[in-house]
Amino acid sequence: MAPMTLKNAFSKTSASVAVIVPGKPALAITYQRLATDVKTFQQQLAKLGVSAEAAVSIALPNSYEFIVSFIAASWQRAIAAPLNPAYKQSEFEFYIDDLNSAIALVPRGAFAQDAAAVRAARKYNAAIAECYYNGKEVVLDVKEPGKLAGKTAPVQSAQPDDVALVLHTSGTTGRPKAVPLTHRNLLRTMKNIQATYELTAQDRTMLVMPLFHVHGLLAGFLAPLASGGSVVVPLKFSASEFWTDFNEHKANWYTAVPTIHQILLRSPLPSVKPSIRFIRSCSSPLSPKTFHELEKAFGAPVLEAYAMTEAAHQMTSNPLPPGKRMPGSVGIGQGVEVKILDEAGNEVAQGKEAEICIRGENVTKGYLNNPTANSTSFTKNGFFRTGDQGKMDPGGYVIITGRIKELINKGGEKISPIELDNTIAQNPAVSEAVSFALEDEMYGQDVGLAIVVKEGQKLSAEELKSWLTQRVAKFKLPKKIFFTDLMPKTATGKIQRRLVAEAMLKKEQ
Ligand code: ATP
Ligand code: MG
Repeated sequence: MAPMTLKNAFSKTSASVAVIVPGKPALAITYQRLATDVKTFQQQLAKLGVSAEAAVSIALPNSYEFIVSFIAASWQRAIAAPLNPAYKQSEFEFYIDDLNSAIALVPRGAFAQDAAAVRAARKYNAAIAECYYNGKEVVLDVKEPGKLAGKTAPVQSAQPDDVALVLHTSGTTGRPKAVPLTHRNLLRTMKNIQATYELTAQDRTMLVMPLFHVHGLLAGFLAPLASGGSVVVPLKFSASEFWTDFNEHKANWYTAVPTIHQILLRSPLPSVKPSIRFIRSCSSPLSPKTFHELEKAFGAPVLEAYAMTEAAHQMTSNPLPPGKRMPGSVGIGQGVEVKILDEAGNEVAQGKEAEICIRGENVTKGYLNNPTANSTSFTKNGFFRTGDQGKMDPGGYVIITGRIKELINKGGEKISPIELDNTIAQNPAVSEAVSFALEDEMYGQDVGLAIVVKEGQKLSAEELKSWLTQRVAKFKLPKKIFFTDLMPKTATGKIQRRLVAEAMLKKEQ
């Protein structure tokens, strides 16, 4: 029978993890060893009183401790709630409070500095425990028992519809929303990803995305491990060490956001040519220019995918060869139904732009404590509204044109910021381009543009405008161009157009 919970999802004994520990030999963990360590950790959680439905906030970096505590919490029927360990106190307070967490796991050693913030977020009285690997097993060292004082719980066994994970959306378009995902949701995505990329026990992936978001957790870790493959886990992405680790651990693919691909393109190429089966790009738009540069530089097919927290990550992807890859498109539905629907929930004519909607076993049932968002997020037929605007070609390839909330509405004329960014990125002097809505007396909104000029190059606003006049309709020309050295981004490398706009306007004052 097909595995239905995270407890039996990793039954392929060929699976393994190689954790790169700074200054030490890499930790080579076999499947058997991982299963034993997870079981021991689950017993520790139970002994501490972590029971079914308790939220376990995991404020740990990518590490063996993260891996073991995440899987153990899910086996214990608890809810894993990974948090960016770099958060500040107010952020920890927001997330720990939002989930009413029973316990927060923090790294050892770093406790005094980084984790002091978690400790300070004690308004909600979550227990605080340091979590570390002692060379034999992963240990939980309770620092503050908080609301778990004097409690114990039996060892539990999770069911497919139990919530295994709660993550917040990135907060690109507003306040982050809490998304509960069940074992069933996660396993569906894991199977979809395995099928899309034909992952097997022979595959080894380099995990460079953080485990505290769906991208790293599902595509970079859970799916490859459940396929019986291996995962190489550095603490975080390092451009200078990426190819050395990649070759040394015989990785053959990786998944990352466009920012990371761009950094790799700007870094020295590997001295030994790596053998790469494919490169996956997801979470932010990959410009066709970067797509071509990547394929040329690394000699591997680049597969752009489209994902969101509410879908337990992946919805669509470009297929492996001999399937067709379409630069500028996020590919086709992969085990997920995709439709372009109007506001009333009806399918629009083929090729027309409207909201991208999805349906599948991977999709959350709804946000936590957010009836307003839940009442507007699903259509009458149970399709989830992604909030992204897009269109579909006759072959089912989806082209995202922007977030509905970020489309620039110039006197009723909708301008896609992504299309504009991609066009401007083709200018040889431009390193990064982000367009956004500017308040405008005449049109309501007009086009603002922030650009980073490539080092050693020169470009004036007038030059860029006249270059752009040859390429886009006049109404899409930016009213104002802002030159900047740094583009504000989220922890996962997402562009927040709202923030870019605010930062540019502030600079102008
Ligand atoms: P919030 O929902 O809080 O505003 P968010 O939507 O950024 O934040 P995530 O769930 O992390 O939170 O991101 C999902 C979104 O990322 C998608 O809805 C889409 O807008 C964007 N996205 C993902 N993959 C791609 C891609 N390949 N191309 C363009 N956009 C993408
Ligand atoms: Mg979103």
